[in-house]
Amino acid sequence: MNFRTGIGYDVHRLEPGGRLVLGGVTVPFTSGLTGWSDADVLTHAVMDALLGAAGLGDIGRHFPPGDPQFKGIASLELLRQVGEMLTRAGWRTGNIDAVIAAEQPRLSPHIPAMQVNLADALGLEPGAVSIKATTTEQLGFVGREEGMAAWATVLISTG
Ligand SMILES: [Zn+2]
Repeated sequence: MNFRTGIGYDVHRLEPGGRLVLGGVTVPFTSGLTGWSDADVLTHAVMDALLGAAGLGDIGRHFPPGDPQFKGIASLELLRQVGEMLTRAGWRTGNIDAVIAAEQPRLSPHIPAMQVNLADALGLEPGAVSIKATTTEQLGFVGREEGMAAWATVLISTG
């Protein structure tokens, strides 16, 4: 069996009044992330980790910002497409581990729903998807609530 790991990292800007979507969950908050799609920073990090592990490039290559067909699209749908790309290339996803850095709001009540969404999009058991949230102790752009960041690692294998 052949194993590969991948890493993904993403950042989106936070603006007052927007919709905050993380792992396909709309989280009630006074601000939202901005971007060409729904700006789901967690799902984007997971997509880049999967594409990277499989040597299939990155999100920007497959879903370029500025392309009208991806404007406002649910990132979970894009994740589903990434999962299909890996399946076609002969890869199976073992597990995903991810971290969201956000100063506010408190994300832990929403994490189980995010796990289910990401797992469903990829045809995995929810237990194969780990998501953590952290603040950055009011330091940096996350701490100043100018944006949110997410990291993800994945393990994929053949067979
Ligand atoms: Zn993104």
